[in-house]
Amino acid sequence: MFNTIAQEIPLQRIDFYGRELWIKRLDLVHPHISGNKFYKLKYNFLAAQAQGYQHVLTFGGAYSNHIAATAFAAQLFGWKSTAIIRGEELAERPYNSTLALAHEMGMQFRFVSREMYRQKNHPEFLQFLQHEYPDAYILPEGGTNAFAIQGCQEILNADDLHQFNLICCAVGTGGTLTGLIEASHPNQQILGFSALKGDFLTQELQQLTSKKNWQITDEFCCGGYAKTTPELLAFIRAFEKEHAIPLEQIYTGKMLFGLSHMIQRGEFNTGEHILIIHSGGLQGRHIAPA
Ligand SMILES: *Cc1c(COP(=O)(O)O)cnc(C)c1O
Repeated sequence: MFNTIAQEIPLQRIDFYGRELWIKRLDLVHPHISGNKFYKLKYNFLAAQAQGYQHVLTFGGAYSNHIAATAFAAQLFGWKSTAIIRGEELAERPYNSTLALAHEMGMQFRFVSREMYRQKNHPEFLQFLQHEYPDAYILPEGGTNAFAIQGCQEILNADDLHQFNLICCAVGTGGTLTGLIEASHPNQQILGFSALKGDFLTQELQQLTSKKNWQITDEFCCGGYAKTTPELLAFIRAFEKEHAIPLEQIYTGKMLFGLSHMIQRGEFNTGEHILIIHSGGLQGRHIAPA
């Protein structure tokens, strides 16, 4: 299914605090392999397939969109899938909606302590896992690697490269943002809204790209990964009601919340044409009605 070109992704125009925004609805790319995860998995699955793999192993938290997407993609390919899930204590509990769905797709879980999970990129730990699962193609957390970046370059088409000066995207590991940066035209600015606290992402991305037309802000992370504030949740509810575009509280909600503040502070020139990447992730939406 990755061989077929993703259909033309709809661009939706909205009025937002007196500005015109164009939203690229990656949430509509595939019902389950949602948003940026479709692009991040594409070349990983194609490369693994070419090498004869029929089993994928990856890492994530219990609500991870990447886990859900990987489970679905593996099922479509007829492969086994295994996930290393952060949090030993979860082994004893009923599955949440993400894990229940992934499990239905045939995914096997291995719940590990936070301490062990932190070793997810260490060569010895990866060697240990490869030894335990000798037939598995190992995908890093969030699916971020060179293949993922290659896939995310396809998010922008030729029109996007000409029509927009500013491209906004939510950031977790930064793989998607790196793809956008690599694909971008030099006179475009790429602005990442981090879902996490801290400026380590800027340093990590500097290792991944030599381009300079980008920036990451963590100002609107609302205290850190998966943290929310009443203001954020109220913003999301109001946005969804006004525009009939669903958001979630971890990534896309924080991006648009941040953008609303920046627009109201007058940070963008009126001539600026703004493209918003809606990176999907709606399976992880947990917003109680007001
Ligand atoms: C995973 C995810 C991101 C973060 O993507 P990275 O490539 O890890 O930065 C952003 N938005 C949504 C909805 C996601 O599911």
